[in-house]
This record gives sequence, C-alpha cells and structure tokens, in this order.
Amino acid sequence: MSIVPLEYNKRTHDCGALRGGDAGKTVLLSGWVDNFRDHGGMVFIDLRDRGGITQLRFNPDTDPAAHGIARSLRSEYVVCVRGEVVSRGGNVNAKMATGEVEVSVHEIDLLSKSKTPPFQITDDVDTNEDLRLEYRVLDLRRPRMRNAMMLRHKITKTIRDYFDRHGFLDIETPILCKSTPEGARDFLVPSRVHNGSFYALPQSPQIFKQLLMMAGMDRYMQVARCFRDEDLRADRQLEFTQIDIEMAFVQPEDVMCHVETCLAEVAMAALGLKVQLPMPRISYAEAMAKYGKDAPDIRFEMTIKDLSAFAAKTDFKVFRDPLDAGGVVRCIVVPGGAAMTRKETDGLTEEIKGIGAGGLPLVKVAEEGGKIVLQTGIAKFLEAEPIKSELLSASGAKPGDLILFAAGSEANVCKWLAWLRGTVAERRGLIPKDTWAFCWVVDFPLFGMDDETKNIFSMHHPFTSPKDEDVHLLHLADSGLPPKEDLLKVRAKAYDVVLNGIELGGGSIRIHRSDVQSRIFQLLGVSAEEAKLKFEYLLEALQFGAPPHGGLALGLDRIVMLFGGFSSIREVIAFPKNAKAICPLTKAPSEVSAEQLKELGIRLAT
Ligand code: ASP
Repeated sequence: MSIVPLEYNKRTHDCGALRGGDAGKTVLLSGWVDNFRDHGGMVFIDLRDRGGITQLRFNPDTDPAAHGIARSLRSEYVVCVRGEVVSRGGNVNAKMATGEVEVSVHEIDLLSKSKTPPFQITDDVDTNEDLRLEYRVLDLRRPRMRNAMMLRHKITKTIRDYFDRHGFLDIETPILCKSTPEGARDFLVPSRVHNGSFYALPQSPQIFKQLLMMAGMDRYMQVARCFRDEDLRADRQLEFTQIDIEMAFVQPEDVMCHVETCLAEVAMAALGLKVQLPMPRISYAEAMAKYGKDAPDIRFEMTIKDLSAFAAKTDFKVFRDPLDAGGVVRCIVVPGGAAMTRKETDGLTEEIKGIGAGGLPLVKVAEEGGKIVLQTGIAKFLEAEPIKSELLSASGAKPGDLILFAAGSEANVCKWLAWLRGTVAERRGLIPKDTWAFCWVVDFPLFGMDDETKNIFSMHHPFTSPKDEDVHLLHLADSGLPPKEDLLKVRAKAYDVVLNGIELGGGSIRIHRSDVQSRIFQLLGVSAEEAKLKFEYLLEALQFGAPPHGGLALGLDRIVMLFGGFSSIREVIAFPKNAKAICPLTKAPSEVSAEQLKELGIRLAT
C-alpha cells in the first residue's frame, strides 16, 4: 500500500466534483497542494486542480506511510492520491463546493516538488502586478484567474456557436501582410528573403474580410488577433483579440441585429442576464449633445443641458467670450449636489484644469424663505432676474442641486462635461449598481477635422461608406475638392455598440464602389500614387463585381473584462504585456544577435 506509482492518467474526478452522494466511493485525484494542516495526528491537505479544491485526510492509523509522505508535503507540490470519499457529517464546509465530503487517503504518489512560491496562490494575493506576470504560471493557478480563463472560453465559444448557427464561415487571414490602417502605428517585420522590405502586422483583418466578401464568402467571422503599436493604457494591449465579422448584401440594421442578439446570448451565458432587445439606438449627434461622448453611459440621467441661448443674454465674460468666438455654454445639474463640500468642488476644479479647462464655474441652488436663490461660485453674475429664472428653466435645476458649467469650443465642452458627468456620478454613488446598459450609437460623421492642421480624417476607417443620402456632398463629378463644410456634414453608415459607457465594438457598411473609394482616399490626402502603392489590390478587386457589404468587430478582451468584473484587460489575457509594453515572463522584447540582423540586412543606428 501507500507510496506506489499511481496511474494519474486514470483520474476518476477533478478536485471540484465530489458531493455528499459520492460517499463510499474509491476515487483517484491529482493536483497541487493548496494548503496543509498538520494536526499532529491527522494531516489535512487541500488539493487543487482546475475543477476546484477537495480536502484530503491522512490518518496515521489507516496508512502510516502515506501519512508520513503527507507530512513532508509543501505548497504547490503535485500529487496523485487514491482514497475513499467520506462524509464530513456535521463539519460541512459550506464555502467549498466539495465541502460535504473529504477523501480519506490510502495511497499517495508525489509527482513533483515545488520551490517556495514568491507569493501565495490565493485570490487576495497582495503583490505587484509585474511579479504576478513574471510568475504567471503560478498566478494563473489562482481561482480568480482560472475563472477568468474559463469565462473567456465560455464567451468565445458562445460567440463562435452563434455565428456558426447563422452560417458564418470561420476564415483565417494573414498575420504577415501589408499595412491595414486603423489609425495606429504598424508593427513591421523585416523580410530575410527580400532585404529592405517589410511585412506589417495587421491592425485588424479589415481589408481581407472585405476581399472575402468580394470573393463570395459571405458570411465571415474570425477570432482575430490585431496588432497596434500605440501607448498602453489600462484597457489597451499591443496585441488584442477581436471578434471580427463581415456580411454581404446588408444594411447597418442587419449587422446590428446579429451582433446584439449574439451579445444577449453572451450576457445570458456569462451572467445569466436577460438583455432587452432591440438595444436603444442613439445618434452620434444626440450622444454628444446629451452625454458629451460617443460612448454614452445611459445607466443614469444627469444629461448635459445647452445654455447657449441663455448665456447670450448675460454679460458674464466667462460665458460671452467663448460664445462670441463660436463656442457653446452647457452644464450638468448634480442632483443633491449642493451638499458637496468646498473641498470636493475645489478638487474637481483642479482635476478639470488637468484636461484643459480654465476652471470650473458652478453655482448651488437653494431655497430661502420660499424663494429660490443661487449661492457660491458664480452666483453673483447670475442672480438677477430674469437671468436666474431662465437659468433654472434651461437647466432644470432645483433647490439642493449643483450646476456645473462649461464654456468653450464644442469639442472641449463635450470633453469636460463628459468627464464631470462620469466622475461626479461615480463619486456620489449616482450610478445604479449591477445595471447593464447597452446601446448603439449610429449616424457617425464620416470625417473629422484636425483642429490645428484643418486636415480631414476618417472617424472610423477609410473604407466606411457614406450614407446614401449624403453621397452628393462628396461632389463625385467635380474634379476639384468639395468644400470642407460639406464634407463635415457627411454621415457614415457606421455604428458602435456600447455597454455602461464603454465601447465594446464598432463597424460599418463599406464602400463597394471604386470611384467612391478613390475619392475618399483623395479627400484624406492620400495621393493617387500612394493609394496605388498601398491599396491597389483593394481598388482593383472593387472593379470585379463587389457586393455591398459591411461588418463589425467586438473587443473580446474588453467584453470578458467587463462581464467578469475585472478592472484591466491584462487580467483576462493569459500572457499579457505590462503597462511598459514588456512581457515580464519572457522578457520580450529583447535584443537579437548580430547574425540575425545581418541576415535581415539591418544595421542598428545605436
Ligand atoms: N476593422 C474595424 C476595427 O478594427 C472594425 C470594422 O469596421 O469591422 O475597428
């Protein structure tokens, strides 16, 4: 008996499987030592594998040799055990799925020893992220990380199953390719065979999926890796995963309908949540006017109110100057915000200066002797009638509220008020808990204009189709360029899906006419030669019978992060880079040998 090699490949259960009804069975389990307690006589071990944890009991009277081995075990040793499932009787551990039973071990095989781990394998691990990433093998053993990987699998599978059921083909597209622009910097891979030439890693499979539609592969989906060389933030990685789809012969509603139904299935699978369909549709213009951003958080009200008409009647310089310069004056009303302390509002003022505002004009609304009065901040500029009444009616503010103003260019005012709305609501607990508010934002402008250079750029990407009723604004028949005012009026057949103020994905109907596509390149400042060099294959394919087509991409990492309640996408990626774009585990990126560089025809400048 006892220290025999056990057939670990013949496990009867995983460590999360046993229940009260299994008492009396002989079982074979394998896993890691999560915890051990030596009570002198009896030794208890918590054995962990992907399925969960089972308590093992080693009794010196049942098997002294196995008991002896058990006493020598340490954290993260790997063992295989055979024993009998026994009921814990009155000692049920309600916190463990297997808490009704334990396994009384007769035989044990020590498969592998472990050094002392640099941190404890537990969910409330208190260590810095780089150490966790360096020892990701140990970090991933924590139940929370195991759950993250399992949730990711479940979500991906739900999505794949959905699209499979609806006739989408899973087709892979190249990783070594020519640049596919999505507005970020490309990663380049030098060619050994063609020294001096480079492949680009795809920023997305955008052009390939369009070519697949032109190739008659209607409909496509891919769990696609995308590469964008940009500065990292909490929810960005250099490489990330998109659920990428494309369909032929569709209008925006066809794509949106599939995506929202799929997301509802994901919400049900991941959270048991029933999502109301169809999701609300909000135009870009409305989203910017009411929420100040194109990814609105509609879980709470506190929407932005326009005060430009009212402000035009005041002589207050802080409002008048921006208005006279073509800007706007808007506000948000914080319900009950009059209770905010000076320290809180001063704090907001400092923070908003950090994003470019000159200050934070505000007033508190109060009631004194049956009369509504304005207090603090800029009250003295607004308290005369009829100004005060007009302000109250335009803003909808009531006694007890706080009005926060912003005056400046429309873009800045949107930015400042969107920040204020989100920050104040968060800090004052105005966002309802456990609410999942999805919406679509539609009718984006096709172009934006850089404030400084006045250059036109694509709001989505250069392959996005204008709305049919706005195509005339491109003045296709003219040889000269259309006026910029016209271009800025063109709306796109583009749509973003948003959850709780975070963009989950976006897409568009694409241009399927080569004349329109060439025109768009021209408007974006891509010369005819450059367009030929970079996109000749696309422009060519458009001339061989291109169907109307469109699609969308969802950010998988972000979806798993939100549904799993994680605060960073690094938590839901098995082997992510840290915020400095380094992989602490493998230490990538790293230097390469002189030999390798020579083969590639590359000489380093430093
Ligand atoms: N390629 C786009 C992106 O990565 C998505 C799409 O238009 O389908 O954002």
